[in-house]
Amino acid sequence: MKYYLADLEQVFEQVQSSPHGLSQADADSRLQRDGKNKLAEGKKVSVLKRFVQQLGDPMTVILIVAAIISGITASYAHESYADVFIIMIVVMINAVLGVYQESKAEKAIEALQEMSAATSKVLRDGNVVTMKSEDLVAGDVILLEAGDAVPADCRMIESASVKIEEAALTGESVPVNKIIQTLTLKKEKEVPLGDRKNMAYMGSTVVYGRGKAVVVATGMDTEMGKIADALANAKDNVTPLQIKLNQLSKILSNLVVGICIFIFAFSLIKSGDFSGEVILNTFMVAVSLAVAAIPEGLATVVTIVLSIGVTNMSKRNAVIRKLTAVETLGCAQVICSDKTGTLTQNKMTVVEHYSEDEPLLAAAMALCSDAELGKDGEVTGEPTEAALVNYAASLKLDKNELKKSRPRIGEAPFDSMRKMMSTVHSYTDGSFIQYTKGAPDEVIKKCTHILKNGQVVPLTDAFHEEIRSQNKAMAGKALRVLCAAFRKYDSMPDSFEPSDLENNLTLIGLTGMIDPIRPEVVDAIKECKAAGIRPVMITGDHRDTAVAIATQLGIVTDESQAITGAQLDDISDDELKNSIGSYSVYARVQPEHKVRIVNAWKTNGMITAMTGDGVNDAPSIKSADIGVGMGITGTDVTKNVADMVLADDNFATIVSAVEEGRRIYDNIRKAIQFLLASNLSEVLSIFVATLLGFVILKPVHLLWINLITDCFPALALGMEKGERDLMQRSPRNSRDGIFAGGLGTDVAYQGILVTMVTLAAYFIGHFLEAGVWEITNSADGMTMAFLTMSMAEIFHSFNMRSQRNSIFTMKSHNGYLIGAMLVSLLLTTAVIYIPALAFAFQFEEISLLEYSVALLLAFSVIPIVEIVKAFQRQFTKNTVLKG
Ligand code: ATP
Repeated sequence: MKYYLADLEQVFEQVQSSPHGLSQADADSRLQRDGKNKLAEGKKVSVLKRFVQQLGDPMTVILIVAAIISGITASYAHESYADVFIIMIVVMINAVLGVYQESKAEKAIEALQEMSAATSKVLRDGNVVTMKSEDLVAGDVILLEAGDAVPADCRMIESASVKIEEAALTGESVPVNKIIQTLTLKKEKEVPLGDRKNMAYMGSTVVYGRGKAVVVATGMDTEMGKIADALANAKDNVTPLQIKLNQLSKILSNLVVGICIFIFAFSLIKSGDFSGEVILNTFMVAVSLAVAAIPEGLATVVTIVLSIGVTNMSKRNAVIRKLTAVETLGCAQVICSDKTGTLTQNKMTVVEHYSEDEPLLAAAMALCSDAELGKDGEVTGEPTEAALVNYAASLKLDKNELKKSRPRIGEAPFDSMRKMMSTVHSYTDGSFIQYTKGAPDEVIKKCTHILKNGQVVPLTDAFHEEIRSQNKAMAGKALRVLCAAFRKYDSMPDSFEPSDLENNLTLIGLTGMIDPIRPEVVDAIKECKAAGIRPVMITGDHRDTAVAIATQLGIVTDESQAITGAQLDDISDDELKNSIGSYSVYARVQPEHKVRIVNAWKTNGMITAMTGDGVNDAPSIKSADIGVGMGITGTDVTKNVADMVLADDNFATIVSAVEEGRRIYDNIRKAIQFLLASNLSEVLSIFVATLLGFVILKPVHLLWINLITDCFPALALGMEKGERDLMQRSPRNSRDGIFAGGLGTDVAYQGILVTMVTLAAYFIGHFLEAGVWEITNSADGMTMAFLTMSMAEIFHSFNMRSQRNSIFTMKSHNGYLIGAMLVSLLLTTAVIYIPALAFAFQFEEISLLEYSVALLLAFSVIPIVEIVKAFQRQFTKNTVLKG
């Protein structure tokens, strides 16, 4: 059916519905029948394919090749296939873990997307309910207002100046005025989509006005569904850090191949023996190097830490929509926040007024409001509007009664550019009255008269001044001030365009409403400042109101730190760039100013977060480094472009997300440092041993250490609580690479340290067995080297709990790390002492003395690193003092 050519009755008949919408039961059965209102997604990658992808990882390929070759060697030499088995088992465990982690991380992200899924306001059983847009069915009656994404294809049934932007479907970015009248076909056979003015289509957005529509098509039956047969599922959910790590992995792989070739050639030439057996043995040494140098756990650990991190954040009400935001949050230097609802509670109550006719003021305000008074006396609607209806009720003016005598027949809805709204009402005598309410400084510009002593008199300069000073007095008390005015008509106005309605008004008076600050924000602001982050307030409200609230919150100390939208208009972008640092409050701004403000901070090199809720905030959210959408009051448009959505609209939540972002990045760095130092120590040990001509550890030993004893502590480090000074240091420089802050040097010396204790264990092992110090192959030496290296790495993971601070001054404990240590100690001891395992691994049973010496050597990394850290701290202190 071509719904745009059909009358509303026909449309309702076709979709078996009415202007009152559907019953819940009916809707449920339709949902069963028609399926969810969503576009088919691209196919998901199957588990098997993922598994194969894991095996295709270059590092894994090297391991598989190694297994095959050791298999061939074993069959030649009639040896056991233990190595082959162990390598293959480890490869499989790694791949299975990889697949598991990947799908778990994906689920975490999916769950988050679910949390920020689009919702619609729908009439069900006659009540307005907010529900997930994917549960809409044909026949549902939905409410549309500025900022809503149109959730399905619908026919308009009510339109108060609804304007819809349909660029996604038509390519036309100029919004279309929507009407409810039935279209007629003239000569042409078809009305192009862009001309179907009584329809609203999925994928478009309401940019202005308010209306109602009945759903006629959902999911893949919509026009959007027809063009987008299947949406590609490609989400760019890889963070810069992950990209850098992938690059690092590539470099390491190349390096590994290079070193292996070198060692292979070096050993062969040195021995001068080119028999098959020697070539194979040498090859195995090269393979053990490859195994040693590949940090198998790196990618997995980062993915897990990130996905656990975002899940934690969502528990603290910060829903991450783009994974990159996690890293950027940790670098945030400026947080620009809306005032109403984010810094304040958005619980408005009228506490003051200025008018000589209070009942008229209250009636005008209540009639010019979209909030409604329920039968139980409960008011529903946007807080500012609800406050006005409540105010009227407190004066015994029931909005429902008022509506009966003066029904609304037209309106120019509120928008934050005009900062006002108007409604037109009819009287029984056939005359009409318009009420306008809005920001006093804006409304007063449209007034020519004022109500005085029951008379309409010209608005003289003196009256102007009086209103201004009243406004200022209320604003100075942190009140949100609104002004009401009226205009009379003998016949119905021809147009409800704001420009036609909003002039020649008569001013009635002012109301001042209190909107208490969110108490937790005061501490959050303090925390921000301590963490080197600049909190900034951006508001459409009056300058004095903004300054009063900003002062209560501790954002500013002086009103010179505030600037208004009008003042912003007077300065160039360059001037703004230079002076932006002096302002922390931006008042009476319009959405486009927000883009300028973000850009000015950004051109100063500051990483900037910006909140937004309204339909016009999308550009500034997009420009910001971290776009923050509002979960409760935010429009779909802003939520869709945001990097993060606040489930509770609360500024304090941004600050806790920053904290979490810092912690996650810190922990990932700790895990990386730990893994790289461990791998380095393995490479160095093999390298030195090969140059000196003995076998210190076999490939399977290294694989075991890398995959079993290294992964657990690395993960445990990822769970580390935030360090004490986490929110007392300045934000991390976003340009810093992984190795910034001396991480590279730390990895180097710590890798060398573990190598030294491992080599020492080897020689002591041989000495205790043979009674002589010599460089030769030794089974006890190998076993002790294995134990020492495994445990030294584990102990070293404790060092990694803080890069510079002593671990003995840390208040928190990391239970995971202690668990990882115990598990590793148990497993390592098991492979040495359980005969079957020891045989497979070619270990010798070592004495208690040897065991203790090996553990002691391993433990020595803690005191040694502590001493180095103390020097490092001293050094930084000195440089800071000198600097
Ligand atoms: P913030 O940007 O911090 O959320 P805000 O809510 O004051 O601040 P806007 O919603 O853009 O910003 O409102 C701007 C101004 O418009 C307000 O200060 C108020 O004077 C006026 N205003 C707000 N809501 C309404 C409304 N429903 N009807 C009429 N005027 C309004």
